[in-house]
Amino acid sequence: MGIGQLTWDIGREAWLRQRPFLLYLKPTGRCDLRCKICNRWQDKARKSDEMPLEEIAEILARFRRAGSVVLTLWGGEPTIRADLPEILAEAKRLGFRTSMCTNCNSLERKGPGFLPHLDVLLCSLDGYGEVHDEKRGVPGLFERVLGGIRLAKGYGHLDIKVWATVHRGGVDQVEPLAGLARDLNVGIEFFPVSPISDYNDETVPTPEELQEAFSTVKRLKARGYPVRNPDRALDIMQSGRRFRCNFGRIAVHLDHRGLAPSVNRLVFGMVTSALFLGSSILLSMNVPPVLFKEHSFLGMQNISILGIAGLGTSFVLGLRLLRDINKSGHLD
Ligand code: SF4
Repeated sequence: MGIGQLTWDIGREAWLRQRPFLLYLKPTGRCDLRCKICNRWQDKARKSDEMPLEEIAEILARFRRAGSVVLTLWGGEPTIRADLPEILAEAKRLGFRTSMCTNCNSLERKGPGFLPHLDVLLCSLDGYGEVHDEKRGVPGLFERVLGGIRLAKGYGHLDIKVWATVHRGGVDQVEPLAGLARDLNVGIEFFPVSPISDYNDETVPTPEELQEAFSTVKRLKARGYPVRNPDRALDIMQSGRRFRCNFGRIAVHLDHRGLAPSVNRLVFGMVTSALFLGSSILLSMNVPPVLFKEHSFLGMQNISILGIAGLGTSFVLGLRLLRDINKSGHLD
């Protein structure tokens, strides 16, 4: 898809039809790294939970028909999927502009299989040299990232960007990473570590560090370094203000398990509320067998045993549902 066509498609979907045009898809939740800033690898994601290629192809086709234009794969680590080349080839065949975020751990080895089907390659880096290896817990990873980027540069059609994370205590990494991107002749975008409650608090940059890091990024951008963050985004990140989330409005996010967990939760919620309602009726009508038939206990008499059991069960099921929803994201 050419840039002119892409711009037209995005404009038409976003402003004329007001429909999401970005599709973020996790082909897998598995990951081959154990980064300190991220707990996705702790999710015990299983290969058997993942959508097969046919289901992904069907979903891509539906979203394409509905107006999605840009597909971004992330995870977990997408290169873990053996059928990644087929997923990307199918997306290209359908007319998507394809983009993928990777930790580059196996980019050199696996890249030739999928890079021909990719338009934008996003390479994660947390620091220069051993700083990156230390943050990701894997010696030699930084060199493998560089090797992967050099390989990718052999594919002339690819737009390559470093996605650099700003950590607490890592403000001094901004300039070396921007210099690296300039030397490699690729783009770079900076983002602060995303806070994950009770997990990575000590890696989240302080407000003072955000201020310093992003004023450095702005200065480097002004000096011609290949920083691609829009100025407005840099202003927001520098101030520590929250971004307005674009999911739902211009973007849709799909988990590696497809729609099944959402549908299961919906059914689970409906069964729980039906149980709650039915049990309440049994209780209000004192349906036998009943407790405290002869005398009252704490003001209770003729309490339906089935009703109280159903009410208790629905309460436990409702709490479990809320806990699972809260664990996997947000209630809103
Ligand atoms: S590579 Fe990405 S998904 Fe994997 S543990 Fe690190 S940050 Fe998380």
